Amino acid sequence: MNSLKPWLSRSSQLKPATEGAAPSGGRAAATFAARLTFEGVTRRYGETTALAGVDLDIAPAEVVCLLGPSGCGKTTLLRIAAGIEKPSEGRVLINDREVAGPSCFVAPEHRSVGLMFQDFALFPHLTILGNVAFGLKGLPRDEARREALKALARVGLENTADEYPHILSGGQQQRVALARAIVPRPAVMLMDEPFSGLDVQLREAMQEETMGLLRETRATSVIVTHDPEEAMRLGDRIAVMTRGAVVQAGSAEDLYHQPAGLFVARLFSEINEITYPVVGGKVATPFATLPAPGLSDGASAIVCVRERGITLSQDGPGLAGRVLDVKFLGDVARLEVGIEGFDKPLKVRVRELEGWKRGAEVRAEIDPGRVLVFPGEA
Ligand code: ADP
Ligand code: MG
Repeated sequence: MNSLKPWLSRSSQLKPATEGAAPSGGRAAATFAARLTFEGVTRRYGETTALAGVDLDIAPAEVVCLLGPSGCGKTTLLRIAAGIEKPSEGRVLINDREVAGPSCFVAPEHRSVGLMFQDFALFPHLTILGNVAFGLKGLPRDEARREALKALARVGLENTADEYPHILSGGQQQRVALARAIVPRPAVMLMDEPFSGLDVQLREAMQEETMGLLRETRATSVIVTHDPEEAMRLGDRIAVMTRGAVVQAGSAEDLYHQPAGLFVARLFSEINEITYPVVGGKVATPFATLPAPGLSDGASAIVCVRERGITLSQDGPGLAGRVLDVKFLGDVARLEVGIEGFDKPLKVRVRELEGWKRGAEVRAEIDPGRVLVFPGEA
């Protein structure tokens, strides 16, 4: 049993955090952080299974990035957490209290959950301040105005309070949407691809601003993205989804160093994939004999050599090779290198400064400790 939860103790119901929130002197005040738990969450639409038993436990004030390709169920999971959608099976809990499940459904407005849609829209007929205050209907007018102004100030737009949204640039509109989402001080903040519509330069600024605000409010946050680099930069943890399920959740380091499978490995680094037969629980490669745990004789294994896991030198240790092609990519160069013992050239990433030229004779050293072995794909 969980002991008294401070966040729940303020009222017997899960209510928007605005209700009963003490007027704060400063900027967005601390929210009472909430745990968000998905247990076996499944969602079907007719023949389509959008979610197939998602298990995910998010700690209070943690920021988790949901990463996965289009159609894998990210938006559906957010909508279920927010209460806009119901699970077909499984449960959602906030602070260990069921908010969706076979026996229970708490309406969205009583979950203290904020949701920022991918295609957030400001109300054109409301002032910018009116837009931000929209989520504060439970408060007296004066107070709502005060809180909304504070939130606008927090995103640097207090001067636009009485204007209408059409005067704002894309980035400014996004800031207003952010202020609107955060002003009720939700315990859980759900954001669906919040940065995907922004150009590169604006994106970084918005990411920093958003993260600053989320940390300040201590909202437990789920940020959807399909960009692995963004997920690594923003998330305390990353939950990788594919085909309606979370295949691995962990820190960026975990996912990079110990990917649970080929799908995750491909997301987080550029790799060469070479297929070998398994013999006696091992695979024999030109650079080492590697263990292939759990794979039986006759099965095939995919050996993944990271493009950055190959060290080239003029006359150091390793296998003999020749540079076949060089592509300049800025700080790095991507080489194709024919290496003795391999049927196909391997791709190798080096620092551009190293200055390898096409045709150069090289030695290629591959660190077996950085190589990954996975079951061959059926
Ligand atoms: P993502 O956000 O990862 O791109 P979604 O959660 O939007 O994925 O969709 C997951 C799957 O569920 C897709 O195959 C999508 O077509 C399907 N889906 C989502 N919402 C509905 C709906 N309301 N009716 C039917 N199918 C849906
Ligand atoms: Mg989506």
